[in-house]
Amino acid sequence: MKLVTFTHQAETRIGVVKEESIVDLSKAAPDLATNMIDFLQAGETAMEIARSAAESSYATIPLSSVHLKSPVLRPPKILAIGLNYKDHIAETGLKTPEYPIIFNKQSMSAHPPQDPFHLPKASDKLDYEGELAIVIGRYCRHVPRDRAWEVIAGYTIVNDVSVRDWQLRTQTMTIGKSFDTHCPMGPWIVTPDEIDDPHNLDLKTWVNGELRQNSNTKHLIFDCFELVEHLSTAFTLEPGDVIPTGTPSGVGIGLKPRRFLVEGDVVRIAIEGIGEIENAVVSEPAETVRIG
Ligand code: ZN
Repeated sequence: MKLVTFTHQAETRIGVVKEESIVDLSKAAPDLATNMIDFLQAGETAMEIARSAAESSYATIPLSSVHLKSPVLRPPKILAIGLNYKDHIAETGLKTPEYPIIFNKQSMSAHPPQDPFHLPKASDKLDYEGELAIVIGRYCRHVPRDRAWEVIAGYTIVNDVSVRDWQLRTQTMTIGKSFDTHCPMGPWIVTPDEIDDPHNLDLKTWVNGELRQNSNTKHLIFDCFELVEHLSTAFTLEPGDVIPTGTPSGVGIGLKPRRFLVEGDVVRIAIEGIGEIENAVVSEPAETVRIG
């Protein structure tokens, strides 16, 4: 099942993608929650209701007539992983980490899969990172690796947009990874039953049609299940938490010469079995100045 959050006729709600249309769950299964976090929280029962509603092919809206939103509008946590592909580590010149490198992207950086993201006023060192992301479906803690599949609601695509000078000038990467709009994700959450093996998916990123990243999730150093085990050793994971698993080589800062994003660039990321997200770069608009 492909689970989406979308806006149609000024109302934001969730649905299931079926070919080129969306089964509107607020109509097809009105007892279900209309936002993704509450829906995921309702667990397997809600999943089954959504699944049979989708099969009945009732209350569909063409995909082309909706505005796709970030599948989880404001994830409780976005826990991203650094340096998790060998080829990316090589291009950074850093050492392979002994433990997963975890950093937060702020919840508010979550951004729709097709909307432009900002070239910040504060920097011209804007970069992309195509990544497979895990979406958590259950409250969980101390999840052993071999049970991690039980708490994964599905998989999605994230562009871990990075402001390189802000990221690298202090020891914690948080601020350079968390500018507003800098976590485009989607276009939907694909449930695990549709993904044969999350650790064998082609991942590609293009900038203006030029292929920049071309890898496969089989090259992850710490795989999805290990990451769930590791993170949940320390804290509770919650429905709607998003875990971008890291990026392969081919980011702008790794190219020779370096190539950062400029206004008008278009970044497209595709992951096998999931789909693709495509976001243009726009200069941060004047309206972002807001006090009170
Ligand atoms: Zn990343």
